[in-house]
Amino acid sequence: KVRKEYSTSEILKGILSRDITFLSIAITLVESSRFDDKQKAHEIIDACLPYSGKSKRIGITGVPGVGKSTFIESFGQYLIKEKNKKVAVLAVDPSSNRNKGSILGDKTRMETLSNLEGAFIRPSPSMGSLGGVSKATRETIILCEAAGFDTILIETVGVGQSEVEVKSMVDFFLLLMLAGAGDELQGIKRGIMEMADLLVINKAEGENLKPARRARTEYKNALHLFPATTSGWIPKVETCSALEASNIDLVYNITLQYFNLIEKNGFFEKQRKGQALEWFRKALEHEIIQQFMQNESNKIRSKALEKLVIEGKRSPFSAVDELIKNAN
Ligand code: GDP
Repeated sequence: KVRKEYSTSEILKGILSRDITFLSIAITLVESSRFDDKQKAHEIIDACLPYSGKSKRIGITGVPGVGKSTFIESFGQYLIKEKNKKVAVLAVDPSSNRNKGSILGDKTRMETLSNLEGAFIRPSPSMGSLGGVSKATRETIILCEAAGFDTILIETVGVGQSEVEVKSMVDFFLLLMLAGAGDELQGIKRGIMEMADLLVINKAEGENLKPARRARTEYKNALHLFPATTSGWIPKVETCSALEASNIDLVYNITLQYFNLIEKNGFFEKQRKGQALEWFRKALEHEIIQQFMQNESNKIRSKALEKLVIEGKRSPFSAVDELIKNAN
C-alpha cells in the first residue's frame, strides 16, 4: 500500500489547523512499530505539547454489555449538540491483539455520533501489548487536543489491568454498572470501584428503574467505606439510561462539579504532572529492558537465570544482580 509521505511540519500544520486527515495520519505514525515512524511521531507530539493539555480527559469503563458504547453515543451527542464541545473517543482494548474479534471493535459502533461534525472516533490500535496500546492512546490524547478536541473520552473494558492504565491518563474516571448483577458477576474488582469518581447504574428505565435506584443506594453506602480520595472529591453514584439518553445531563453536571473542584484545589495540575512523570518512568523502564534484551547474550543469560529462579535455585534478586553485573 502506497502512502503519501508528508513531512512532520506538514502533518503538524494540518493538525493545528484542525484537519482530521492529518490527525489520523499522525495517529497512524504513533501506532506504527517502524523506527522512523516512531521518530516522526515523537517529533510531532513534542511540537503539539504546547497546544495540548487543555481538554477534559474522561475514562469510561464497565464490563462488556453494560452499555459503554451506547453511553458514549448519547453522552457524546449531548456534549456536541447541547454544549458545543468537540469530542474525541479513543479505546484501550488489549483484547484486540489476542484474537481478531475485539471486545470494543467489530460491530458498527456509535454510528450517529461518528457522523457528527465535532466528533472523532478512533478504534483501539491492534498492536503489541497492553503497554503498547496504552502508550499509543496516551500519545493520541495529545494529538487530539492539539487538533482542537476539548473532551477526550477513553473507553476501556472493565475486566482487569487496562483500567489502571486508563486511570493514569485521565482526569475523571466513570464506571458503568448494572443493577441486579452482583459485583462478582459483573467482574468488577473492588480496586476498580475505588478508582471511580462516578458510578453510574445504566439501563435504569422501565421495570429496571426501581432495582437501579436500589442499587444506587447500596453502592452509595458501600462507597462510604472506601478510603478518602486524594482529589478531595467524594465519589458519586447515579443512575441513567444510555439508550433513552436520560440523566445524561446529570452526568455532565457532575463532571463539571468535579472539574471545578479539582481546578480550584490544585489537584488537576497535580494529577496531570504525576501522570506525566509516571509515564516517563514507565517508558524509561520499558526502553531500558528492550535495549538490554536486544543483546543476544543478555537475552540468553536472562532466560537461563529465569529457569533457575523458577526452579528455586536462585533468588530473583541475586539473579538480577548477576545479570546486570555481567551485562553486555
Ligand atoms: P458495551 O459492550 O459496554 O459497549 O455495551 P453496548 O453499548 O454495546 O450495549 C450492550 C447492549 O445493551 C446493547 O444491546 C444495547 O442496546 C443495550 N443497552 C445499552 N444501554 C442501555 C440502556 O440504557 N437501556 C437498555 N435497555 N439497554 C441498553
